[in-house]
Amino acid sequence: MPHDLDVAPEIADLLSREDLDRLVRVATVSYECWLCMRPGKLPDPPAVVIILRDGPVSVARLAHRFCSESLVVDMPDQNAMMYDPARAAGVDAGATFLPYQAGHRPALLLEVRATGGMDAGQEERDDRAVGWLLEQGLHLVATAGGEVVTAPGWTVHLRGSTGLRVTGPMGRLYDGELQVASAWRREVTAQGRCLLLVGVGMGLDQVDQAPHSMQGAIGRVDAVAQQGRLAGGLAAIDIT
Ligand SMILES: [Zn+2]
Repeated sequence: MPHDLDVAPEIADLLSREDLDRLVRVATVSYECWLCMRPGKLPDPPAVVIILRDGPVSVARLAHRFCSESLVVDMPDQNAMMYDPARAAGVDAGATFLPYQAGHRPALLLEVRATGGMDAGQEERDDRAVGWLLEQGLHLVATAGGEVVTAPGWTVHLRGSTGLRVTGPMGRLYDGELQVASAWRREVTAQGRCLLLVGVGMGLDQVDQAPHSMQGAIGRVDAVAQQGRLAGGLAAIDIT
């Protein structure tokens, strides 16, 4: 680390070695100061690293040392932008059936796309997103057909024929429209709860909405589960 680039101790914990190397490279070529928006370049003037933090995502920025000290800035509104489908399409949803014991059970799949960070690689952003989901009371899920326990504070709201809203302890994770099969709706209604699986990297956005077949869904769910990127739990159901 060049002595003319300040990194506060609490920031060092949020950045990987690769993040820091990348920042140093950028800082020594050219950057725009996050505060005054004027250009900068190490070694003169000296620079600082600033972390903009929100939920699962931390974004690193550079600034002149005479503009700021190295610090963490919490920006909760960034979260709403990331996870509000109406604004940033950060979450996709799909309703499906997954095998369970001798039969099957309805499941709601949500995919969080951890965008917004320039500092970290995609892998690291994905890991942070999963960590954030666990902090919200979801549990790591090892396989599509495994046992899942209750996720306190999580509710799946079905509104009218296609309205879907998913809320957790932190507020709203998804608010949009989703076509669900009548059999899916019937079973979820009868059970009064819903298996909620939130993954990172399932690729729900790359196909036409939900996985069509149970087999397709199993493959997607298990693939992210094996990567440690599937969180879930039984959510309460609220139908109006
Ligand atoms: Zn500046």
